[in-house]
Amino acid sequence: MALPQGLHRADVAERVDVIRVRPVAFDGRLMEVRIASQPSPGRSANEDFAFALPDLVGVLDGVSAPDPLDTGCRHGPSWYVRRLGAHIAAAHSQHDNAPLADLLGDAIAQVATYHSDTCDLQHPGTPASTVCLVRAGGKVLEYLVLCDSPLVVERADVVTVITDPRFAAAVTPLRAAALSGAHRIGSQEHAAGVRHMVTRQRALTNREDGYWIAAADPVAARHAVTGTLPMTGGNRVSRAALLTDGAAALCLFDGSTS
Ligand SMILES: [Zn+2]
Repeated sequence: MALPQGLHRADVAERVDVIRVRPVAFDGRLMEVRIASQPSPGRSANEDFAFALPDLVGVLDGVSAPDPLDTGCRHGPSWYVRRLGAHIAAAHSQHDNAPLADLLGDAIAQVATYHSDTCDLQHPGTPASTVCLVRAGGKVLEYLVLCDSPLVVERADVVTVITDPRFAAAVTPLRAAALSGAHRIGSQEHAAGVRHMVTRQRALTNREDGYWIAAADPVAARHAVTGTLPMTGGNRVSRAALLTDGAAALCLFDGSTS
């Protein structure tokens, strides 16, 4: 896995918390994995999580909760994404032939048990995370995309972006309505607009008429976008990038963050 086009080592060198090259053997070949991440501006804890196993790579992007909105959870998104990622990896280690959606569903259910006694998991703001997974086996690359962490793959010099379109479809109108004013970022008016947007967004979480994301209900895993791509032949996957929405903004659009 390589850093995506548009995001160069020189660009990330000043911003990364972690970047490492890990050669991983699978099916007699080597896969190079590079991981780069940094906390969101204004956030002391990194609410993203990435991991690499010999044949499974994952990126999770925890949902931030703007102050002072309640979440019903005493732990927070950073706590959640680390445990969810760790349990996806653990589930894969135990059942490496299970569908990716099953691994994710098992992990969501397991993490829920860790705070069901202390937190309100029915709260609409309960910690949640996007999920992007790829598993490289013998002849195919399996993928899973849930919410707005897209997968970018390169095959025979053709780049394809695999997305879960439901989040953008549900939230873009809310974002446009809530942030349509000319209030500067950091102003009280802008913060109030964000809180209003998030409150309305939460009402669309994990609903058929909204969008799906990993949170406390394992049913969300069944709604992930999944599929396979060839790992052999002339149309095989040569490179892939698993992106949070912030990294996607850098790589896929105009090269700036918002
Ligand atoms: Zn909790």
